[in-house]
Amino acid sequence: MLSKKIQAALTDQINTEFYAAYLYLAMAAHFEEQNYEGFAQWFRMQAKEEEGHAMKLFDFMIARGGHVDLKAPAAPTQTFGTVVDVFTKVLAQEQGVTAPIDALYELAFKEKAYAATVELQWFLMEQVEEEKSAREILADHGLEQRRFAGPGLADHIHVRQPIGFPYAEQPVRMRRSASTMLLRAAAGF
Ligand code: MG
Repeated sequence: MLSKKIQAALTDQINTEFYAAYLYLAMAAHFEEQNYEGFAQWFRMQAKEEEGHAMKLFDFMIARGGHVDLKAPAAPTQTFGTVVDVFTKVLAQEQGVTAPIDALYELAFKEKAYAATVELQWFLMEQVEEEKSAREILADHGLEQRRFAGPGLADHIHVRQPIGFPYAEQPVRMRRSASTMLLRAAAGF
C-alpha cells in the first residue's frame, strides 16, 4: 500500500501530466490556426503521449490500491509567438516536469515504496528523451533557418506542409527531425 504522502505526490504528478497534455493541445490548436500542419500534428501526438503518462501513473496507483483524487488541470497559456518561442516553452515545460519526477523518485525511496521507484524510472528516462527532443528540434529549426532562409523565413516555408507519412508511426528517436523534415518536404528534397 502506498503512503498518503506518495499518493498525494503521484496524484499531483497525474495533474502535471494532464496539464502538459492540455498545453500541447493548445499549441496544436495554435499551429492548426496558422496552417502549420506538421507542427500541429506533432503537438497532437505529444498531447496524447502526455495523457498516456497521466494514465500510466493512474493505473499504477490503482494497481497499488491507492486512492486517486483527481484535481482540475490548470488552463494552458494562450500566448505563443514564433515556432522557436513555442519550442523554447516546450523545453521549459519538460524541464519543469523533470523536477517533480526527480522529487517523486527521491520521496519513493525515502518512503521505501520500491515498486514506485521502478515505475518512476521509466518517467526519469522519458524526461531525458523529452528534453533532448525539444532541444534538438530547437537546434534543427535554428540551423535550417540559417542555412536556407535567414531569420524568420523558415517559419513561412513550413506553412501548409504536412509531414509525408503518419507521425504516430515514427519511433521516438526520429521525432527530433520533425522540423527538418517539414522544411525538406517544403523545399522538395
Ligand atoms: Mg510527460
